[in-house]
Amino acid sequence: MEFDGCITIALSKGRIFKDTLPLLSHAGIVPADDPETSRKLILETNHPHIKLVIIRATDVPTYVQYGAADLGVAGKDVLMEHGGGGLYEPLDLQIAKCRLMVAGVKDAQLSDSRLRIATKFINSTRRHFAAQGKQVEIIKLYGSMELAPLVGLSDLIVDVVDTGNTLKANGLVPLEHISDISSRLVINKAAWKIKHRGIKRLVDALKVAVDERSSEEKNHD
Ligand code: AMP
Repeated sequence: MEFDGCITIALSKGRIFKDTLPLLSHAGIVPADDPETSRKLILETNHPHIKLVIIRATDVPTYVQYGAADLGVAGKDVLMEHGGGGLYEPLDLQIAKCRLMVAGVKDAQLSDSRLRIATKFINSTRRHFAAQGKQVEIIKLYGSMELAPLVGLSDLIVDVVDTGNTLKANGLVPLEHISDISSRLVINKAAWKIKHRGIKRLVDALKVAVDERSSEEKNHD
């Protein structure tokens, strides 16, 4: 691949890194270190012009928006909270799939007055209930949302749900579907213009990897 300048890709550790790795490898990019074992925050790759920066999932849109990274991989849940300013979102990588849901205690009687919702997804939650004409009180949490209705901190929660096992283990049930979530490739708008050739090649190669993987999955079904 030829590149018009160095390209930096922002990724978060864990699920997103693990699921993005095969797609990058399909595009010919292999990191020199494993972020799960290395403490390095900047990872070189086999490609001299491409490096990875390893950051918190919620920081990926910010790094890309400000051009500290040219591209990034971020969950749609994170992008919906961020608002997406300064970013292109050209590709659904179809990884780390889950659903953003409203959940609550099974068979709980909810009052007609202002409901309290515990979540880390403040903006998506506000939009969801506003669209129903409901005024809610949102309580910002950073994790373990499932606990909030069990100890009377909130009536409901809004969280991402995959298998539903965590809700079930805590006596909660999914009540309303807000949005399907998967990870997206995001690109800094200025970088897309300035480093167009290199970034376009990378996006095209990743798109081929995503398409091939989904046709393989269909053949398995
Ligand atoms: P579950 O499989 O529904 O029990 O998911 C367990 C927990 O993992 C949830 O409470 C979420 O916080 C988290 N989780 C599941 N899927 C995702 C995802 N795709 N992205 C981020 N967090 C997730």
